[in-house]
Amino acid sequence: MSEVKIHRVQPAWKKNALIDNDTYLKWYADSVKNPDKFWGKHGKRIDWFKPFSKVKNTSFDGKVSIKWFEDGETNVSYNCIDRHLKKRGNQTAIIWEGDNPYDDKKVTYNELYEHVCRLANVMKKYGVKKGDRVTIYMPMIPEAAYAMLACTRIGAIHSIVFGGFSPDALAGRIDDCKSTFVITADEGLRGGKPIPLKENTDKAIEIAAKAGTKVEKVVVVRRTGGKVGWVAGRDVWYHDEIATVKGDCKPEKMKAEDPLFILYTSGSTGKPKGVLHTTAGYLVYASMTHQYVFDYHDGDIYWCTADVGWVTGHSYIVYGPLANGATTLMFEGVPNYPSQSRFWEVIDKHKVNIFYTAPTALRALMGAGDEPVKKTSRKSLRVLGSVGEPINPEAWQWYFNVVGNGKVPIVDTWWQTETGGILITPLPGATDLKAGSATRPFFGVKPQLVDGEGKVLEGAADGNLCITDSWPGQMRTVYGDHERFVQTYFSTYKGKYFTGDGCRRDADGYYWITGRVDDVINVSGHRMGTAEVESALVSHDKVSEAAVVGYPHDIKGQGIYSYVTLMKGVEPTEELRKELVAHVRKEIGAIATPDKIQFAPGLPKTRSGKIMRRILRKIAEDDFSALGDTSTLADPAVVDDLIANRQNKK
Ligand code: ATP
Ligand code: MG
Repeated sequence: MSEVKIHRVQPAWKKNALIDNDTYLKWYADSVKNPDKFWGKHGKRIDWFKPFSKVKNTSFDGKVSIKWFEDGETNVSYNCIDRHLKKRGNQTAIIWEGDNPYDDKKVTYNELYEHVCRLANVMKKYGVKKGDRVTIYMPMIPEAAYAMLACTRIGAIHSIVFGGFSPDALAGRIDDCKSTFVITADEGLRGGKPIPLKENTDKAIEIAAKAGTKVEKVVVVRRTGGKVGWVAGRDVWYHDEIATVKGDCKPEKMKAEDPLFILYTSGSTGKPKGVLHTTAGYLVYASMTHQYVFDYHDGDIYWCTADVGWVTGHSYIVYGPLANGATTLMFEGVPNYPSQSRFWEVIDKHKVNIFYTAPTALRALMGAGDEPVKKTSRKSLRVLGSVGEPINPEAWQWYFNVVGNGKVPIVDTWWQTETGGILITPLPGATDLKAGSATRPFFGVKPQLVDGEGKVLEGAADGNLCITDSWPGQMRTVYGDHERFVQTYFSTYKGKYFTGDGCRRDADGYYWITGRVDDVINVSGHRMGTAEVESALVSHDKVSEAAVVGYPHDIKGQGIYSYVTLMKGVEPTEELRKELVAHVRKEIGAIATPDKIQFAPGLPKTRSGKIMRRILRKIAEDDFSALGDTSTLADPAVVDDLIANRQNKK
């Protein structure tokens, strides 16, 4: 591999940083040496109705049991709203930027309080109680946050289903957690196109009813005013309802381990899992990581571009920032509407200081060139973040040099729905950066690399990433299926949480996520992460995106099959194919020579923008009769094209 350049912490990043390198090292050592003491202290960052006396009570063995702060009592909405009112009632809590650039609004903490209380009272009026499951199927509008917080206020468990999901996917999630109360909108709006949320909900409710779950009540927010079907008695308008109830609602006293929300994983690797997070540990961890990973200071304008339908939206649009009294920006639209400059224009418009997005968005924007970025100022930016997939060094450099003008640190944050918050990440004022590395563990996180047999690998090594001890934000179970929880995460390597990701640790102790373990390819006995080959392909200037999988190969065991999306305007030719093969050989070595290259106008992605390699694997194997669960696929049409142009036709 080409030499890795180190980007040292710049004086400006260190100047007012909350954590410098010495502090990081000291806190980290303390946190893993004495977790009870460390988290006992930081557990007090949230307000408690009844203080905890026990801190950590966790076991990764046998039945697996994870409890944090278990005898304490608190409430999430209280921590995200009420406790701020005295000091920052008139401060903006949420900046909303609509799909249309002329549509925006600001919601203060005082206003947030009233909205949340009213919706909580509406839910109570219709009989929603502590422990009931409420499904939220919403566009990115402030009401989505109100709905989440209203649930937490009364102790209901929310399950958010991303607004881009189909009626079938929604029905499956309603039925899986037996949710009888749904909050939705007439329509969503993305890139100028309406999304029929209410219509989808109606269909989903029918499907769920057949499966045995009857939805009793649907609260509908009017977003576009589009025409919708109506079931009298079942459906009610949000704006009508909130006018009939009081603007105050006492927050329910919740035990630390009471369930907070269920969230289904993206489904990149199989049937989505209903990840269950609980109240206090989650909030402590989300708020603490939000503060330190983004070096969040009072008054900063913070923008995470995720959707609240993903865990990133839960932890880093709503709960983490609001628990910290931050101003959080919520964006309804898409990165390239109405123009390729939209992200950067929004940053200038609202003077965004901290910006957190995904590699998939960056790669897409990179494909449009530097001009749309360069015509904006972006001078308010202080921290840039990335999450969701390995960020290939090429995209990292572009983010750093073009978006950040070489002056803004990038935090490449590795974590999962299951982890509740960020586990491996740089800290802006403390960590020297390497493009493509998530760098070092956050406080309290103990990563370990093991080989296929479970042997612990020390020092610089390449293996499977496990975490050996619990942290407060960890998921507690798969909803309704604890056995699946134990099986999925704790049975591969006894006594350890197995992440499912492959990872390399370099001589400096930096972690490099190499992709999912299932995606590791074994060519003539050499293990190779798909991320590495993909990065090499993407570093060619005619390539916009690449996905690599293995397929059975008579001689090598596995061959390397690459799907390549070219930059706009580049013609796919035999010559280019040869050029790309030569390029990968030069970047990595002969061992990584792609055996097949298929030019693809689009790659199959989950709705959260992740490449679904298991589908690509099937197509590469010329076995596409059963592609498995494709309900979370963003654009099923790309699959037909991939099948039609497959290179391994028998
Ligand atoms: P499923 O579990 O249903 O297959 P998923 O794993 O895509 O879906 P998420 O929890 O949203 O669902 O994603 C977590 C995964 O995303 C991680 O396990 C990792 O593979 C990848 N990931 C997230 N952030 C990073 C990052 N900064 N660098 C590398 N990989 C990342
Ligand atoms: Mg996963």
